[in-house]
Amino acid sequence: MKICSLSILCLIFSVSAFAQQPSLENIAASELPSLLAIYKDIHSHPELSGHEEQTSALIAKELRAAGCEVTDHFGKYDNPAMKGYGVVGLMKNGEGPTVLVRTDMDALPVEEETGLPYASKVVTKNDEGKEVHVAHACGHDAHMAVFIGTVRVLQRLRDQWQGTIMFVGQPAEETGNGARALLKAGLYTRFGKPNFALGYHDNAFLETGKIGVTGGYTYANVDSVNITVRGVGGHGAYPHKTKDPIVLSAEIIMALQTIASRENNPIDPIVVTVGSIQGGTKHNIIPDEVKMQLTVRTYKSDVRDRVLAAIDRITKGCAVAAGIPPERAPTVDLLKDQFTPATYNNPDLTKRLVAVWKKQLGANNVEASDPTMGGEDFSEYSLPDHSIPACDFWIGAVDPAKIADSKKNGTLLPSLHSSKFAPVPEPTIRVGIIGMTSAVLELMKK
Ligand SMILES: [Zn+2]
Ligand SMILES: [Zn+2]
Repeated sequence: MKICSLSILCLIFSVSAFAQQPSLENIAASELPSLLAIYKDIHSHPELSGHEEQTSALIAKELRAAGCEVTDHFGKYDNPAMKGYGVVGLMKNGEGPTVLVRTDMDALPVEEETGLPYASKVVTKNDEGKEVHVAHACGHDAHMAVFIGTVRVLQRLRDQWQGTIMFVGQPAEETGNGARALLKAGLYTRFGKPNFALGYHDNAFLETGKIGVTGGYTYANVDSVNITVRGVGGHGAYPHKTKDPIVLSAEIIMALQTIASRENNPIDPIVVTVGSIQGGTKHNIIPDEVKMQLTVRTYKSDVRDRVLAAIDRITKGCAVAAGIPPERAPTVDLLKDQFTPATYNNPDLTKRLVAVWKKQLGANNVEASDPTMGGEDFSEYSLPDHSIPACDFWIGAVDPAKIADSKKNGTLLPSLHSSKFAPVPEPTIRVGIIGMTSAVLELMKK
């Protein structure tokens, strides 16, 4: 009888010892103090897009420490703006799928006004040689802390997954050309095409502790268009002796807004914004030309083609109606190298991950987010035909009391890119690590 109860006791002990293997939450919590120190250090030392020299070295060091095969200074190609600060770390663990996990690394030319003790005081020269302040006003510093935490936790949980994790430290997200540079430099031909691609972004309007996600289109196609409206200049008192490009530009701007209201299926979201208009020098001179810069946002590629064609047609048609001679017709230039494709969250993958996150974080902490017309070059990793299932999710970064106050009193919360934006480090970083790690484990489980 005694022997029997002893063996039962032993059994209970071994079962409970197994159950008490460190959990994902416990490992994430144990890494947190070191990650918060790293986060504050990165926050204080931001680097502009394409200049992520120290930041990428830190990412490479962390990947090497976790036993990854690391290729740094990756992504330099024919574009002189890309200095090649991409980092790729392969964590190999036997046969199985390849999952890409991406963090961006760049900061913005913003003077930080958060008042935080670890606020950035960095001033540097931008690519035009102008002196600018630099700050992590988009929270990419938090992304890197989540990334390093995910690397460390997945290294410690190696017995729970199999395959290869492709960790990517991406430069130049803010300028929209970082992901493209890595792909052009052979990310998939050199290191293999992943089966899934995962990314995340902190969210300036979602409570910290929560994850948000949208199935399907979540960010828009971003196109930049330059228009030069040409007229025939002259004296402001003799308009009948001129062809006024300023009045014509005003007509074009108003006519462009009819693309959204009259030409487009209202079910398909589009935005046509004229963000810059420059023309003329003085009250009494009708100038020869006016220059405009547009940002154009769409989701579907056939809608994109139609909207861009309509901008060209309307601009040139208005000039014909104004009697502009053919040799002075407006020029409409699409800046092809500045295009960012729409981000499409694979609906099946998103559904699968939402189920995992609800189990891991509680159903109340996982929200269906609205799609946005913002842009994010994470889209590049799923390829133009979305053939690599991808998911880019939000990590809530705001004190819940501030969100409640904003809802009640209409107080404006600082948005991403604001000089006053900074994520609440804890629990934002911890929840980000749990979200990303549990997603990877789901896709690579033994
Ligand atoms: Zn940003
Ligand atoms: Zn960002």
